[in-house]
Amino acid sequence: MSNKKKHPSKRNFVGVQIGLISFLDEGVEEVLDILEEKSHVNALIPSTISWSRGNAGRATDWFPDHGVAEPDHLQGGAMIDIDPRYYEATYLKEFGAPDPLYQGVDFLELITEPAKKRGMGIYPYYCETSRTDPRALNIPGFVHILEVDLHGRRTGRPCVNHPEHVTWWRCIIENHFKNYDIDGFLWGVERKGPMMLMMDGQECTCFCPYCREKARNEFGIDVENARRGYLALENYFSKVRTGVRPTDGHLIEFLRILIHHPSILAYEQMWHEGHKQLAKEVYGTAKWLDPNAYVGQMVWQYINTFNPFMRAQWNLDEFKAFADWIKPVMYHTAAGPRFHGIVQGYTKSILGDFEEKEATQLLYKILQLDEAPFDELPNTGFSPEYVENETARTVRALSPEVQVYPGIGVGVQGIGNLSVTPEDVKDSVRASYQGGATGITICRNYSEATLACMEAVGDALDELGITDEIPEGISKVKVEREVKDEGADADVF
Ligand SMILES: [Zn+2]
Repeated sequence: MSNKKKHPSKRNFVGVQIGLISFLDEGVEEVLDILEEKSHVNALIPSTISWSRGNAGRATDWFPDHGVAEPDHLQGGAMIDIDPRYYEATYLKEFGAPDPLYQGVDFLELITEPAKKRGMGIYPYYCETSRTDPRALNIPGFVHILEVDLHGRRTGRPCVNHPEHVTWWRCIIENHFKNYDIDGFLWGVERKGPMMLMMDGQECTCFCPYCREKARNEFGIDVENARRGYLALENYFSKVRTGVRPTDGHLIEFLRILIHHPSILAYEQMWHEGHKQLAKEVYGTAKWLDPNAYVGQMVWQYINTFNPFMRAQWNLDEFKAFADWIKPVMYHTAAGPRFHGIVQGYTKSILGDFEEKEATQLLYKILQLDEAPFDELPNTGFSPEYVENETARTVRALSPEVQVYPGIGVGVQGIGNLSVTPEDVKDSVRASYQGGATGITICRNYSEATLACMEAVGDALDELGITDEIPEGISKVKVEREVKDEGADADVF
């Protein structure tokens, strides 16, 4: 029997983010049965290398009605076999997950055949979360690629401009595509540049020799001038966060520092270009290894929804250069408590002249949102209309070259009093397709979702009549279906 399927860009995509732990805890066939029957999944997005408890571990706050109800204390690393032939070019050769549960198991070997039998595609996922814990302590030599902060101290994340870091990622991609029958890759690095980090009260990076050299040589930046600007910003934020009120107001003083030190923004943009460059390295390497590889990029919810500075920094249109598909994160339930915290942060810094409820309305207008008042956010979440509008905005920017598969919150923990309900899930599936999505991504992790929420995905798809095809009339946005490279319309399963 022919196993030939449509190219993934031409059929409805139902992906799920999942860690190795779920297959070990529940059994491979048992998990695949649930994914297929309850959620109609046709694409697995396994975290094959991860230091993220949220993406690769068991649940973090409470345990749903499947899996093992005990913390797994994920340490993290590679959960596939590291083939030394591909790591000759780097000194970062040992990064297997040291977790006892994962010894002697190769994640992709475990799931590939059973998943392919069911016609499921496999898209390994690397998500580097905004957190710096758990640390990648299991990698000898990792200390050398860590970023350096404004004061010359080594910090917690690897530098996007460090050549060894970039080389290491080319090695990892080669390892994935040469040793396994995968269909693509999903890249998702939740990172901010030095100015955005400082605005959020985090360590200001990166000022390592590679970043300084890139700033000087490629961007013509006076690095010492930039450093002085960042020191002025640091002084500003440390004062306003302890309650000092600038004479001319919080926002004016912030803008004054930016205007008087134009290298601040130039240096921020230098870092941002390096961040994108790493994603392009991953994309191009995967495509060279397999021209049919279907490579996606994650868009962090801070970029598309929460942060006006990051939304301005990222131009969606640019993804056409290094993505076949994107997964913009749109966890509408989680968005309530998360945005509540973000508003609190702003009112302690650049929006210090606003009450929280005023700042919420100001940010809504700027970000083109229309959601609940500040006080209600921890217990309300955002509306399904947010998912629809945000999907439509993304589809308009990227269709037909790049397919859009919203990352919907089916199981997302760490959101305070709220938890995702089956009704929330159905709303977000419906809203995604109404906004013109040509697929969805079940997030954040199967291990955090209840079976009722998993089932709500399949129920919503059934109610909409969506199978491999999406019926006409659901989308309120005109979506064309094309692929950049017609030669890619080959047998990919
Ligand atoms: Zn650096």
